[in-house]
Amino acid sequence: MSRRRRIYEGKAKTLFEGPEPGTIVQYFKDDATAFNNQKKGTITGKGVINNRISEFLMTKLGEIGVPTHFIRRLNMREQLIRQVEIIPLEVVVRNVAAGSFAKRFGLEEGTQLPRSIMEFFYKNDELADPMVTEEHITAFGWATPQDLDDIVALTLRVNDFLFGLFLGCGIKLIDFKIEFGRLYEDDMVRIVLADEISPDSCLLWDLRTNEKLDKDRFRRPRQGRGSLSGGRAAARHSHRPGAGRRARPHDPAVK
Ligand code: 5GP
Repeated sequence: MSRRRRIYEGKAKTLFEGPEPGTIVQYFKDDATAFNNQKKGTITGKGVINNRISEFLMTKLGEIGVPTHFIRRLNMREQLIRQVEIIPLEVVVRNVAAGSFAKRFGLEEGTQLPRSIMEFFYKNDELADPMVTEEHITAFGWATPQDLDDIVALTLRVNDFLFGLFLGCGIKLIDFKIEFGRLYEDDMVRIVLADEISPDSCLLWDLRTNEKLDKDRFRRPRQGRGSLSGGRAAARHSHRPGAGRRARPHDPAVK
């Protein structure tokens, strides 16, 4: 048996060198973190389920023509993916106000937004992922205007598709975060969906009862299950440093 080379150790995933050049093995851990790593825990079996969910969603998105890094699932916890150059952005789409967004704009959790809103955050744990605009992204060279056009177009397709898919299962897609990478193939480079899509990176509520079916159950375990009032109460009580998905510097609660 030979030892695999570990390329990257993340909060919820580990990346190993893949069997062929240009491939990577993505291993899904049971570790859960929240509030920019201030809360840590283990959810037994989470990695197995997220591996499956991400496989399913990436495969379906591939079928509608959204290019992704996904190649195939290898086993319960691992999938084979294409090696990409990760663009250091978290692309967030919000359909309903919740979490940090609801707090930022003083909206009640659960408020339907007039239209889907896309936001960008610079991936940097030390800076707590600051929100950025297209100006920052292109000026600092994280992505070109052409890259951004592709990212926006793909993200809108991902939102439309996921929203409908979850709706069909009685689930409301409140918001989600995705990441993109550059895939180099011969003399071509293209933007593809990377990382994962799972209940770790989405807010998903039961359509009928508003019960939270996502990682918020780990972030805010004491809130009333299945009730919107629980969400509002949790948002009201979360005006303390570190509360919310990210402890962002622009958040008035964060000093
Ligand atoms: P918020 O900006 O309100 O904290 O998060 C918006 C959405 O993006 C939520 O669905 C949240 O789960 C997801 N999200 C934000 N930051 C991260 C992150 O660092 N990792 C993961 N997996 N998801 C994130």
